Amino acid sequence: MKYLSGNEIRRLWLDFFKEKGHRVEPSASLIPLNDPTLLWINSGVAALKKYFDGSEVPPSRRITNAQKAIRTNDIENVGHTARHHTFFEMLGCFSIGDYFRKEIIEWAVEILTSPKYFGMDKNKLYMTYHPSDLETKKYWMENGIEESHLIPLEHNFWQIGEGPCGPNTEVFYDRGEKYDENNLGVKLLKEEIENDRYIEIWGIVFSQYNAENGVERKDYKELPSKNIDTGAGLERIACIMQGKETNFETDLFWPIIESVENLTNEKYENNTLAFRVIADHIRAVTFALSDGEIFSNEGRGYVLRRLLRRAERYGKVLGLKEPFLFNLVDVVVNIMKDYYPYLEQKKEFVKNIILTEEKKFIKTLSNGETQLKKMIQDKNVISGADVFKLYDTYGFPKELTMEICQESNVSVDLKEFDREMKKQKERARSARGELESMARQSKDLLDCKVHSEFNYGKEPINAKVVALFKDGKIVDNISDEGEVIFDVTNFYSESGGQVSDIGEIKSKDFAAKVTNVTKAPNKQHLHSISVYYGELKIGDELTLTIDETRRDKITRNHSATHLLQSALSDVLGDHIAQSGSYVNDEYLRFDFTHFAKISEEELMLIEEKVNEYISSSIEEKTLILPIEEAKKIGAKCLFNDKYGDVVRVVTFGDVSKEFCGGTHVTNTKDIGVFIIESEESIASGIRRIQARTSINAYELIKKRYAMLNKIKDLLGSKSIFENEIRLKSLISEKDNLKKDNNSLKSKIGNNIANTLDDSKIVFDGINFIYGYVKTNRDGLLSISESFRSKYQDYVLLLIGDDNNSYPLVSFVSGKALSKGFKAGEIIRNVSILLNGKGGGRNESAFGNGKDLAKLNEVEKLFKGLIK
Ligand code: ATP
Ligand code: MG
Repeated sequence: MKYLSGNEIRRLWLDFFKEKGHRVEPSASLIPLNDPTLLWINSGVAALKKYFDGSEVPPSRRITNAQKAIRTNDIENVGHTARHHTFFEMLGCFSIGDYFRKEIIEWAVEILTSPKYFGMDKNKLYMTYHPSDLETKKYWMENGIEESHLIPLEHNFWQIGEGPCGPNTEVFYDRGEKYDENNLGVKLLKEEIENDRYIEIWGIVFSQYNAENGVERKDYKELPSKNIDTGAGLERIACIMQGKETNFETDLFWPIIESVENLTNEKYENNTLAFRVIADHIRAVTFALSDGEIFSNEGRGYVLRRLLRRAERYGKVLGLKEPFLFNLVDVVVNIMKDYYPYLEQKKEFVKNIILTEEKKFIKTLSNGETQLKKMIQDKNVISGADVFKLYDTYGFPKELTMEICQESNVSVDLKEFDREMKKQKERARSARGELESMARQSKDLLDCKVHSEFNYGKEPINAKVVALFKDGKIVDNISDEGEVIFDVTNFYSESGGQVSDIGEIKSKDFAAKVTNVTKAPNKQHLHSISVYYGELKIGDELTLTIDETRRDKITRNHSATHLLQSALSDVLGDHIAQSGSYVNDEYLRFDFTHFAKISEEELMLIEEKVNEYISSSIEEKTLILPIEEAKKIGAKCLFNDKYGDVVRVVTFGDVSKEFCGGTHVTNTKDIGVFIIESEESIASGIRRIQARTSINAYELIKKRYAMLNKIKDLLGSKSIFENEIRLKSLISEKDNLKKDNNSLKSKIGNNIANTLDDSKIVFDGINFIYGYVKTNRDGLLSISESFRSKYQDYVLLLIGDDNNSYPLVSFVSGKALSKGFKAGEIIRNVSILLNGKGGGRNESAFGNGKDLAKLNEVEKLFKGLIK
């Protein structure tokens, strides 16, 4: 087979699908954007979810990408199978309501087998498909795949809960008997036995049904717009194209393994597992850190910490006692920079963070391992309390304890560990509450009188460290987490409803992330930091850089809040008073007193007014005034707030004057556009408006537009402006159908009634009417109605049949009543026969049967009444 490098495979894939009319989307960050349901981007489609769920209109209905992915659930497989990684690249092509089965199958065969592309031998390809999906089988065969290579598998159906779902088909490459010790052949595929002979390279999902609770799969309804989502593993294709035993010997990994060989003087062949784990994990860590994640004790940060620690420990197995992983970053960057050029810029930074983390862990490791060895000496089980002690006191990870114990055949009492862990979490929870309130009241913070100035500008500034704290206590230095006060800062501290800035502080040999800023008791800005590398000491000089884009977004929202308050007074009246507000980089929220509901028209007027102020380009002026003067010029202030003698007043011409310490745009036009997202009542007499500005407002408009477009597609309108007409005609059509349906029903009811009337039995002046009719309860009632208006004296029993439910009705009247016939009793007896429930009064009764097995006996029972 022709040799293709990893980079060539990726390039060919994107070129191929570009030629087939696909738009090439860049690889998205590994950190999911606005998606709390996902820890990492774990597939090509995960990064495109916004297009698939309709929250955003795709720029093209055909998309292709090479997407970075992390799968933590495959971590245990890494190094043990030929094909699993934590970090890998997924090559994808996607149809969003565009092409379907025929095209993708034709293209799949073309790219895999054409000599111009991968040039694989057709006879080596096997495909699995869902047994119900014969169309897929047909297309594979039409494209030259032998029937014996097509394997039906029940599990080839992709579904997560309710919503879009569908069959999938998977492409396998047969690497031959060499990887099939017991010569099982396709049995491996048919019985889904884990193996290294048939490598799954590509999964193709046909998202065409809508899964609903309580509905059987075969009865799922077709989706109006069908999608295709596919993913092929780059490393696995490389393994095949390069004729290697496993993915790890391909050019995507090999240079890393060679570097580890050089560092250790050990040979790969002698301990493939250790080399593979290291090569795999360093790729994941390098990419995740480059995308902005950091090591920490929770969520993604904890996953990274685990990966690094696991790699470090395997390094130790290979005899490495000093930090070494940071050195491998260069190799990873060299292999990958072709498609991910940004890695180069982040390289030094990433190396620094890794080195710091390695040093920390090596210390932990040697302490912990010594302890663990002592604990398991001459034992075959280790208690959960001991494992917990290792974790809690020595920071020794549970996963490592388990691995080491497994190697030494010692079992672990995990239940006990979990119990200890739970207890500790509870302790931590109550302690954290204490800590936070203590931090605020901490003596050290209360006593801290150092001078610190806040500078409203956005540019980076140089500042000197004047105080350092950890959990509210003064410290001399910080090397992980803590709080800092600078002589001057450009970081806004959370206040007046505006969230704090975040950003970075850096010097030659120190860098940290600023995660939050609050005000210390004496008003200095207290920066919570999380250290990337280095150590911070009093007197250090650093550059403080805020996240400017985020600040701009917050600023625009804050200024819009002032304009909103003014528009509210204009439209609703002067009684409007602010009762709260919250402003972040996504939206603004404004709470105010108002006792009536706000109409749709009023809301539109309010929104319009704010946009008028924006487009009038009103300049902002900040005035610093004695409080009395500020009140004289009519500046609004919060009723309950305490102010000093001199106040800061933010003005936008005559439109708005407010006491405010927040950040603001220099001109209203900078806000761009203002859109109200929601309006609601949050307490008696208090309403809340949530709104967005600028790019966030645009996103909201786009979302609404996407929804209109979706409705357009469903209605089959030519443009969204036709939606209204279409919908109106659909509604009137529905009304007409309903009318027709009702009149048909009553006609049918009459007809049935006539037939039943013919078979009635009159005995002793009483009409005995019995019928089994395929209709629902309403149908039975309308049939009953026609008898009730026609006769005086009757006993009526009707059994319906509607979607596996059998409604029962009975009416008794006139002479029949006086003779002692009882509708309730009839229904009770009948429902017992039909396995259901029912009852009622003497005149009328209702019920429901569950099965009709004894319908004949019901009729007998009824006839038996006539005597
Ligand atoms: P497997 O059964 O081999 O774990 P999968 O069914 O989990 O694969 P999909 O979720 O269908 O795989 O992902 C699509 C493609 O991505 C696979 O065909 C494979 O080529 C690749 N892939 C999936 N998981 C990994 C992984 N952990 N490492 C490398 N490649 C992977
Ligand atoms: Mg898998």
